[in-house]
Amino acid sequence: MRSPIPDFLDETLDRHRSDRSGENADYIPDLAAADPEKLGICISTLDGVKYTSGDAEYEFSIQSMSKPFIYGLALEQVGLPRVLEMVGVEPSGEKFNELSLDKKSGKPLNPMINAGAMAVHSLLGEPGASLAERTEIARAGLSKFAGRELTIDEHVAEGEWGAAYRNVAISNMLRSYDVFLDDPDEVVRGYISQCSVLVTAKDLAIMASTLAGGGVNPLSGEQVLSPRVNRQVLAVMMTCGMYDAAGDWMTEIGIPAKSGVSGGVFGVMPGQVGIATFSPRLDKHGTSVRGAKIFRDLSNRLSLHIMDAPEPARSIIRRDRRFVDSKGDMVRICSLQGLIQWSGSENVIRAMDDPSGSTNVFVLDLRRVNEINGIARRMLTETLSRLEDDGIRVVLMDPDNLMKCKGPDSDLPGVEIIDSLKTVKGLKRVRDDRRKEMAERTP
Ligand code: GLU
Repeated sequence: MRSPIPDFLDETLDRHRSDRSGENADYIPDLAAADPEKLGICISTLDGVKYTSGDAEYEFSIQSMSKPFIYGLALEQVGLPRVLEMVGVEPSGEKFNELSLDKKSGKPLNPMINAGAMAVHSLLGEPGASLAERTEIARAGLSKFAGRELTIDEHVAEGEWGAAYRNVAISNMLRSYDVFLDDPDEVVRGYISQCSVLVTAKDLAIMASTLAGGGVNPLSGEQVLSPRVNRQVLAVMMTCGMYDAAGDWMTEIGIPAKSGVSGGVFGVMPGQVGIATFSPRLDKHGTSVRGAKIFRDLSNRLSLHIMDAPEPARSIIRRDRRFVDSKGDMVRICSLQGLIQWSGSENVIRAMDDPSGSTNVFVLDLRRVNEINGIARRMLTETLSRLEDDGIRVVLMDPDNLMKCKGPDSDLPGVEIIDSLKTVKGLKRVRDDRRKEMAERTP
């Protein structure tokens, strides 16, 4: 079978190919000269499958799309408190290259605007690291997200440095407010080199899917960012990634994303996919015109808006049946299904609470459960142990050991674990009327 996904991507590009609105970035010579007709897309799954269309293998400089990744690397290197001391996490609502600092704290508002990104760049390596060292840390770090060795386009970097008046001003402002103590020219040059790393839409999609997968690169399997840092990066990207268009982007498109003046845009759907597009003509916010339109399309047609409430979760309680066993005890078998998170565990806990008090044996059947997250497991463990305290015999059917009750480290050491219901002898189904009757008889 030929997958319909590449056809879907071809169609999506074709719908926007004729849109020639916007202009290439003009302040970096190589970007001004880039072929404005290029158009490419790649979607990467969390297991590293890449669906591409158009110019997905064409190389361009990463520009501001480097910022979230370098922020992540700095967080890993010096820790959250140190980074927060230097750069805030508040959306600025300003242009990417605004000469601004937070009025009260005197620090850059967030790491997605140039002021914040340069401050973050200055954290790379040992304090006082050289330009060459920081540049190499940035290049090698970005390569880990892409799963291949990326290179720097020195020509792009030289061109940008030649007219970097605004960024030099920002860097000098940071130095004069003691945000960093390094040579401001070196910090701009390092930041410009970081922006000049070459990527393709395919690389960017892999980089995005590394963030979508909790910091694990789908190609190399390497944990590039810890889950906590990864979350920080995504949260900041979602609120600040699109500068003065962040609100419009999040409400209309709803895919946490980052754009760059080279014409790339990448988006991250946590737990689902990484997406990247490339098309050089930009709108007034510095975002690719066709890129934004394609993202809007994907959001609508693939239901990718992050705030779309999920379908009301199909009940995770598949069946809840009562039996009487050969000894005349009331046995309740509660069978669960799917993925159990906190809200699901609340559901189960509510169902476990049996005010009639007629249950003697409680069987929790997890054979159809795919996953229980940490907090749901703790909630269920606590509830089962309370059932035991109430004198109820608790039995688990948990072939995949999702409740981690097998072995010496079990949180429910006494719990009985069975493989098959046959172990609970002589079960007879209790009908509703009989159940009511039994409940009424119980004091
Ligand atoms: N190197 C560019 C600059 O600092 C990146 C801007 C962007 O991509 O938004 O001006």
